[in-house]
Amino acid sequence: MNTEPESELPGPAPIRRLQESLINRIAAGEIIHRPASALKELLENSLDAGATTIRVTVKDGGLKLLQIQDNGSGIRQSDLPILAERFTTSKLSTFSDLTKLTTYGFRGEALASISHVAHLSVVTKTRTSTCAYKALYSDGKLVPAQRGQSEEPKPCAGNDGTTITIENLFFNTPTRLSALRNTSEEYARILDVLTKYAIHNPKVSFMCKKAGSSSPDLSTPSASTTRHAIKMLYGPSIEKDLLQIAVNEDMKGEVSWSSEVYFTNVNYQAKKTIFLLFINSRLVESTRIKRAIENVYTGILPKGASPFVYLSLKIDPRSVDVNVHPTKKEVHFLNEEEITTQICDTLQAKIAEKSHSRVFEYQTLLTGGIESSSQRNDKKRKEAPTETQTINDEEREEVSASLSGPKKVYSHHKVRTSLQDRTLDSMFPVVNPSQIGKGPAESNPQSQSLPRSREVKESECFLTSVTTLRNRILKGKHKLLTEILEKHTFVGIVDVDRCLSLIQYSTKLYLVNHGALAEELFYQLGLRHFGDFSRLKLEPPPSLRELVKIAVDAEEISEKTSLSKPDIVDRIVKILHSKRSMLSEYFSLNISEDGLVQSLPLILRDYTPNLDKLPLFLMRLGPQVNWTSETECFESFLRELAYFYVPGPISSDPSIPIAVSETDEDIAGSKAERWQIQHILFPAMRRYLAAPKSLLDVDVVQVASLPDLYKVFERC
Ligand code: ADP
Ligand code: MG
Repeated sequence: MNTEPESELPGPAPIRRLQESLINRIAAGEIIHRPASALKELLENSLDAGATTIRVTVKDGGLKLLQIQDNGSGIRQSDLPILAERFTTSKLSTFSDLTKLTTYGFRGEALASISHVAHLSVVTKTRTSTCAYKALYSDGKLVPAQRGQSEEPKPCAGNDGTTITIENLFFNTPTRLSALRNTSEEYARILDVLTKYAIHNPKVSFMCKKAGSSSPDLSTPSASTTRHAIKMLYGPSIEKDLLQIAVNEDMKGEVSWSSEVYFTNVNYQAKKTIFLLFINSRLVESTRIKRAIENVYTGILPKGASPFVYLSLKIDPRSVDVNVHPTKKEVHFLNEEEITTQICDTLQAKIAEKSHSRVFEYQTLLTGGIESSSQRNDKKRKEAPTETQTINDEEREEVSASLSGPKKVYSHHKVRTSLQDRTLDSMFPVVNPSQIGKGPAESNPQSQSLPRSREVKESECFLTSVTTLRNRILKGKHKLLTEILEKHTFVGIVDVDRCLSLIQYSTKLYLVNHGALAEELFYQLGLRHFGDFSRLKLEPPPSLRELVKIAVDAEEISEKTSLSKPDIVDRIVKILHSKRSMLSEYFSLNISEDGLVQSLPLILRDYTPNLDKLPLFLMRLGPQVNWTSETECFESFLRELAYFYVPGPISSDPSIPIAVSETDEDIAGSKAERWQIQHILFPAMRRYLAAPKSLLDVDVVQVASLPDLYKVFERC
C-alpha cells in the first residue's frame, strides 16, 4: 500500500486528444448557430447557383426540418461525394482566388458544418443530366440511406436545381438544442433572413411556409423591383416615405466602390431601426455603419423614432478583411470610415432636400466662410487700421488657398456662417411642426421656451472630475438671478456689438450682458454634453496648422519670448495633435491624422458659432488649457469653447471699430444674429442657466422698476 502523502493530492488531469467528430461538431457550431444561420448559408448557395425561385419549408422553427429547393445550376453527380467535405468548394481554387472572390460563400464550410450537426440530404439535377441524384451525408461524408446499402448517390426523379434538406438540427449537441427551444422565435428569424434576401434579390421569387401548411408566410414574385419588394415585405407605409440614393467612387488605382441606399424620410417613424446591410450581396452586420446612419437621423426624427435603411454596398473584394471569418456577420473593410461618411453625407443631404425640416443635430458648416471672412477682416483692417494687422497678402492667399476647397452646398441643411452668404431665412431653423408631426405646443413662433426637440439631456459620465465641475455649478447657483433668467420676458436687444439686451422680470427691467450670460450658458451646456457632443462638421475640413497660423500671425508677440511665430504655431499644433483622441472622445472635436479639423462640438442645436473666431479658439487652446490635470483641463477647455461660442464679432472690445460701412449682407447677417440671440440663446438660458453670483452687478443690472416708472409718468 502506498502511504506517501503526495499521492492524496490529485495530479494534473492527462491531456487527451478530442475525438475528431467532437472537434468537427464544435467547429460546426461556430458557423451554424441556429436554423436561421443554416438557412442563410443555403440561400447564398442557391443564389450563387443562379436560382430564380427559392422555396423554403420549415418544421419546428427549422429544428426538425429545414428544406430549401432551388432551380439553380444543380450539382454534378461526380461532385457529390466530396460535397460536404470541409473546404470543398467550386468557388475557390487558389489563394489568390480568395482575394478576388465575388460570390457569397467562399470557404466550402457550410454544407460540411451542417452535416456534422444534422441529417443532411441533397437531391440535385444539372440541366444536362438525364435524372436527378439523391445523396445523404453525415460528418462530412456520404452515407447509405439504410444500413448495408451503398452510400453512392441514387438516381431519382427530380427537377433542374437542388433541394437541400436538413433534419434534426443539433440532434447531437443537446446543450445548443435546449437553448433554442422557442421554435416560433426561430421561425421568425428564418423569415427575417428570407425577407432581407428577398429585398436584395427582387428578381428572384422567394417562398417560405411551414411544413403541412398550404399557405405560405412569405411569397414574392420574380422580376420585381427593390422598391416594390420593400413595399410588399415591410408595408406600404415605408414605401411611401422611401428615398433613394446611389453613391459611388471610381478612382483609378484606388479602391472603387458603389452603393445603393433606400431609406425613409422624416415622416416615417419606427420604434426600432430597421437596417439591412449587404456588402457584396452578403447580409452582414456593422455596428459602426449602423450607428453612423442612426446619427444622421438623431436630429431629424423625434426622440424614440427610428428609420428604415437598406444599404447595398459593392466594394472591391480585396478590400474586405479576409481574416474575418466569413460567417462572422460583423465586417470590416478598407476605407470603411470614408465610405461611411460619404454615404451618410449624401443620405443626409437627400433627406434635407426632401423635407422642409432644418433641424439637424449633425450639422455641417461650410468653411469657405473662414476664408472669405478673413478677407473681409483684412478689408476692414485696411479701412480702420489697427495695430493687429499682420497678415500679409501672400500668406493670406496661401491660407485661403488651403481653406477653400470644392464647395459642397446642401441647400437646406447648409448653415451659413459667412456673413457674405448668410441670409435671414437661413437662420430660421425652427421646424415647422406640421411638417414633422410634432405637438402643437411648438407651433407657436412667439413661444419663448425652447422646443422639446431641442432639449439637452445631461450625458452620463462617471468621471469624478466632471461630477465635481457639475456640482460646482449647482453650488455656485444664485437663486434669485437664476429665477430672473428663468422667468424673464425678452424685451429687446439694445446693442449687438456690445452684447446688451433688455429683459423684464416681474415689475423690473434689467439690462443684461447677453455675451457674459451666453458664455456661462455655453460652459454649462458643454459640461452637460460632456462625452456626448453632437458634431458640427466642417466642410471642407480646414487645416489646423493654417488656422492656428492665422491667429498667431494676428497676435502681438511679447519681446521677452525667444520663440518665433512659426515656433509658437508648431507648439500649439503639436499639443492639439497629441490630444486628438481625447478631444474627439470627450468633445467631438475631431482632428484627422493629417491635421484637418473635421468637426467641432455642437453645444446648442441651431446655434452656430461665428467661424471667424475659429482660428482664435484653436490658438487659445494651446496656452489657455491646462493639459496636465484632468479637472482643470476639462474646465479650461470648456471655458475656451464657451468663449468661442459667445455671439458677436471677433473682438468684443468695443473700442476697435469693426465695420465702417455696412453692406446689405452685413445688415442681413446682423439681423440673423439678433434672431439667433432672441430665439435660441435666451430660451436656452431660461431653460438651462444656473446663474452664478459673479454675473450680478456687472452683467445684470436693474435699470428700472416699472412701478417707479409709472409714478414718473403719472407725475407728467
Ligand atoms: P461554399 O459556398 O463556400 O463553396 P458550401 O459548403 O456552402 O461552400 O458549398 C459547397 C459547394 O457545393 C459549393 O461551392 C457549390 O459548388 C455546391 N453547392 C452547394 N449548394 C448548392 C446549390 N444549391 N446549387 C448548386 N451548387 C451548390
Ligand atoms: Mg456556401
